[in-house]
Amino acid sequence: MRVNIEAQQPSVKADLARCQCEWKAGSFMTLGPRPWVRCDKAPTVVVRELALPFGEMSLCDEHLDAFKQHDGRQVETLPIVRYADGRAEVSTCPRSDDRTSG
Ligand SMILES: [Zn+2]
Repeated sequence: MRVNIEAQQPSVKADLARCQCEWKAGSFMTLGPRPWVRCDKAPTVVVRELALPFGEMSLCDEHLDAFKQHDGRQVETLPIVRYADGRAEVSTCPRSDDRTSG
């Protein structure tokens, strides 16, 4: 699995409705083309790069773990706040425990 932050244009806002993790369907044994598959879960955080190109993407808890394990980039993790009326917005306070170290 690969968390594909490069696929997101820096100027595009993170999708708060759906996790933006994508991976190739099948395995290296799969015959024929392997389309990208996108996670269909609701995201819980937005990760935002702290250096150029300042890309951002939304991730569910599962894919946030995968991102932190497989990606060494400096990012801040911003929780998504959801309201009872269905609105969602990105918190401006990073999760203190999620800042990538070193
Ligand atoms: Zn996901």
